[in-house]
Amino acid sequence: MPRVVEVPEYEVHDEVRVDPARTALVVIDMQNDFVKEGGTLVVPDAEATIPRIRSLLELARGSGMKVVYSQDTHTDGDPEWRIWPEHAREGTWGWNIVEELAPREDEAVIRKVRYDAFYGTHLDHFLRIWGVDTLVICGTVANICVHYTAASAGLRWYDVVIPKDAVSALDPFDLEASLRQTAFLFNGTIATSAAIGTKEQDVYRSKIEEAASEAPEGV
Ligand code: ZN
Repeated sequence: MPRVVEVPEYEVHDEVRVDPARTALVVIDMQNDFVKEGGTLVVPDAEATIPRIRSLLELARGSGMKVVYSQDTHTDGDPEWRIWPEHAREGTWGWNIVEELAPREDEAVIRKVRYDAFYGTHLDHFLRIWGVDTLVICGTVANICVHYTAASAGLRWYDVVIPKDAVSALDPFDLEASLRQTAFLFNGTIATSAAIGTKEQDVYRSKIEEAASEAPEGV
């Protein structure tokens, strides 16, 4: 019999300003197998997140933020298919990222074999050479690939922002448990996608502040 538990409170921020030069938008596994009817491992709520992820892509592309996609990628004999039904077989329709969120040519697509997009990939390498210290992570599945990527980022001291309406899970418990863990364990920021903006308007002021701090004492 299911037990009823309360989700401990975590803050959902209504305004999050990120520096586009130091932030990457990471879109996790928005592939046909997970998102579209006919996929082999569909998350029913994933399709509804497409418009929110598109808005985040517009924000990122319009402000010069880096955009990175992860693409779950498996081939014959992959042990993950002993845990889950066959999914994300390299080269199939199900493996492709959904058309609505198609990556641009200049955007990185990281093929990954496990839940964590850092595991066995070049993700950390690229983020570091780009000077990125903040990740806005969206996509699916919230408590699986989004969660383990966010956790892995947190362990590496990246700041993590999760727009909770741009992630999806198979079960509300899984979603809430994941968001609570990210907020509580990694000091991650949970927000809505509409709450996320850039702090470009602060740049000018901070340059003045910078100049003021460099002025010789007593001037
Ligand atoms: Zn997989």
